[in-house]
Amino acid sequence: MGSSADSIREALWTASAREPTVNPDVFADKRRVDVAIIGGGFTGLSAALAAATRGASVALCEARTVGWGASGRNGGQVIPGLKLDPSEMRAAYGPSAGDRLVKAVGEGPDIVFDLIARHGIDCEPKRAGWIQAAHAESALARVQKRGGEWLAEGAPVELLDAAALKRLTGTEAYLGGWIDRRAGTLQPLSYARGLARAAQAAGARIHEGTKATALSREGETWRVTTSAGEILARDVIVGQDGYSDDLIPGLSESLICVQSAQVATEPLPEAVRATIMPGGVCASETRRLAFYFRQSPDGRLLFGGRGAIGDAENPAFHGALAAAMRRIFPATRDLRIEHRWSGQVAMTLDGLPLIHEPHPRLLTGHGYNGRGVAMATLMGRWLVARALDGEAPPLPVTPLQPMAWHRFRKPAIQVGIAWAWLRDRMGFAA
Ligand SMILES: Cc1cc2nc3c(=O)[nH]c(=O)nc-3n(C[C@H](O)[C@H](O)[C@H](O)COP(=O)(O)OP(=O)(O)OC[C@H]3O[C@@H](n4cnc5c(N)ncnc54)[C@H](O)[C@@H]3O)c2cc1C
Repeated sequence: MGSSADSIREALWTASAREPTVNPDVFADKRRVDVAIIGGGFTGLSAALAAATRGASVALCEARTVGWGASGRNGGQVIPGLKLDPSEMRAAYGPSAGDRLVKAVGEGPDIVFDLIARHGIDCEPKRAGWIQAAHAESALARVQKRGGEWLAEGAPVELLDAAALKRLTGTEAYLGGWIDRRAGTLQPLSYARGLARAAQAAGARIHEGTKATALSREGETWRVTTSAGEILARDVIVGQDGYSDDLIPGLSESLICVQSAQVATEPLPEAVRATIMPGGVCASETRRLAFYFRQSPDGRLLFGGRGAIGDAENPAFHGALAAAMRRIFPATRDLRIEHRWSGQVAMTLDGLPLIHEPHPRLLTGHGYNGRGVAMATLMGRWLVARALDGEAPPLPVTPLQPMAWHRFRKPAIQVGIAWAWLRDRMGFAA
């Protein structure tokens, strides 16, 4: 087992990013700002851009480099919605708050693709839709109900039988599903760097290599102690997600951090390129440990899935992923794997993102359960609206709830993941 910490070097996105690396601001010992932001992923960067655009002075500190966390390593699938269906959101939060949430999460991709266009972010965006493919009859009924609900909301959605799904994806491995044409794809590391560039242009200061080590309150001011100096701020916004540490006591114990890993083939031969995931469509499927796949902008097949827990990468998992890819897409059988990498995602017990305000003017949002490209972009804006205007976000602000025996849950969850992997491979329905 090795650490996933630097597997970003092996990521296709690091090798292919068109947006240049960020030109970081120099830290001047002590800095006083309206809003201090911790974490240079989509949550923090979207917050920095939103706050600076509103005229607030902003300092963002990122322990490594912009996009170093999950934001620079993901599948680049820009998917609307949450893991709850519209009817479930209304049942959970009531008709009026539920309506607001359905609308807010449904337009996530609009917000992402608008930001890309407005700030000229060179992240190879494509809006060809996201497919949820069912691996079993029970899953087909479940996802087609979900597709039907979004159709009733007026979303550009189609239900797919096995033949239609095969036409769109090039695989016979699934029984059907649905396609949501609000969704699309992008180059995630370029998107992160482009958000940082736009935030800087709006006046935000971005400090790379600057780890926040302590938060303390002095009267009306937050003091953020970092590895490079201090930031004094009226508001603090924290976006650490799967890389949460003990900066906010109890935060990392309220999340389950798991690895998501990907492999990328060599560029597909021209004839194959037109048959496997053509035209920029992306997909994920319905197994407990679901696979997700798309073509990269340079015509490789990207294939990902969830594996280990914690920050230890299991190299054998990349081999298992490649084997699954070749089973689902036999035309990739003889292709070389040229990139393999992984990153950490924060999961929550109910599958929904979390927003906490553990102290006045200290906000944190996370727990995207592997669906953070659109959702973390939204979250950054929601946290800024809360900080600057006192606006209630579309998801409730809840108390931090560290899980009892979190430490001992890890081995149990690891066994659970192994069991889910085995059941998935043996073909049991979810
Ligand atoms: C392999 C993989 C595939 C995925 N695929 C998809 C997908 O296709 N579609 C989708 O919607 N989602 C996907 N996700 C999930 C998505 O990438 C995340 O939900 C999202 O990027 C989270 O963004 P974030 O800004 O909250 O956190 P991150 O991007 O993880 O950023 C957190 C940052 O905080 C920094 N940090 C932590 N502690 C400190 C500190 N004390 N001081 C300073 N900085 C600190 C870290 O260095 C890190 O850069 C995937 C994730 C992975 C790992």
